[in-house]
Order: sequence, then structure tokens, then C-alpha cells
Amino acid sequence: MRLIGITGGIGTGKSTVTNYLQKQYNLPIWDADIYARSAVSINSPILQAISQRYGADILQPDGMLDRLRLGEIIFKDVNERQWLESQIHPYVRNCFETEISQLEPDGVAVLAIPLLFEAKMTDLTTEIWVVSCDRASQLNRVMTRDSIDQVAAEIRIDSQMSLADKIALADVTLDNSTNIEELARQIDHHFN
Ligand code: ATP
Repeated sequence: MRLIGITGGIGTGKSTVTNYLQKQYNLPIWDADIYARSAVSINSPILQAISQRYGADILQPDGMLDRLRLGEIIFKDVNERQWLESQIHPYVRNCFETEISQLEPDGVAVLAIPLLFEAKMTDLTTEIWVVSCDRASQLNRVMTRDSIDQVAAEIRIDSQMSLADKIALADVTLDNSTNIEELARQIDHHFN
């Protein structure tokens, strides 16, 4: 079984890499962000726990989670972030474990996990690929994609575990500082 864990920093190109692996090699992509969203789907036990903790104001009128409001709470308070993660990470881990249990013994799959190290999910993978790029490219891509200024982009980047620390724990580092063709060349090299 080959279980490729893809991680990296905000805007470094993780989705670009998983999209390429899916298209080029027809691999299944299991995505922690999708599982984390389903963890707090409407009427789910975790969403109920969140609304009990923060009050019904944490829900939108349609009953869905108000992500912006929750984001403000957890960005300011590390204890609350840890509480939220203690609710969501086990759910996400369970989703991956279910997928792995259904993969054939010689199967290959991609696990897209932005918080692979922080959430201690490295044991779910057989190899870890970190998608990296230089700081200027990362800043530009985050500013453009999220329509935010440089200061706001720097705050988002610097609130994360550093890329250097992630690279130190990686089996493979993909440098996405230039263009998609060069990124694809590196992916082909490490996949084959
Ligand atoms: P996040 O986790 O923050 O959602 P990500 O790591 O998945 O981001 P992508 O969505 O793949 O990153 O890329 C971030 C942005 O940078 C996107 O708008 C993407 O189109 C762009 N981008 C990615 N790679 C390159 C590249 N080599 N050259 C130019 N733009 C790129």
C-alpha cells in the first residue's frame, strides 16, 4: 500500500499537486478539509457541541456553522482552538482510516492533510510530501487568491508551523517557486 501524505503551507500549491496526481495518475484523493467540513455539517453531533459551547449565535439562520465567527474565536484563543481540534481531528482521522481499510493491498492513494504534522496524522501515511515555495511567491499567491493585503497575508502565513520545520520532517520536498511545468516534472520524478 502506498499512502502519499501531501502537506505544506497556506497557498504553497497543495491543491495544485493533488489535482495533478488525480488527473495524471488517476489516484484517489482523500481530503482532510472535506472531512473537516462534513464533521460540522448541519445537525451533526460536533456542530451541536460547538453551538452548546459558544451559543446559538455561532450558527447562521439556516442552521449551518458561521465559520467566520468561529474563526474569530479560535484565532484569538489557543485553548478554544485546541478544544475545536479535539472535536474535529478524531473525526477526520476516522474518515481516513475507513478509506484505508477499503483500499486493496497494492493500492495507491493520496491523503491531502494541511495539518498533517500539527494533527499528528503522519502514521496514516507511508510517505510525506511537503509542497513548498519561496516566501515572496507564497505571499503573492495568498494575497491574490484571498484578495488581502500583504500584512494580512503575512499574519496568516506566520500563524502556521514554518515551512522549514515541515521540510525537515518530509520524505519529499516539492519546490513550487516557479511554474506548473517544473512542479509537474518534480511530481513525476518522485511518483515514478
Ligand atoms: P491553501 O491550502 O491555502 O488552500 P494550497 O496549498 O492548496 O492552498 P493552491 O490552491 O494549489 O495552494 O495554490 C494557491 C494559489 O497559487 C492558487 O491560486 C494557484 O492557482 C496558485 N499557484 C499554485 N502554484 C502556482 C505556480 N507554480 N505558479 C503560479 N501560481 C500558482
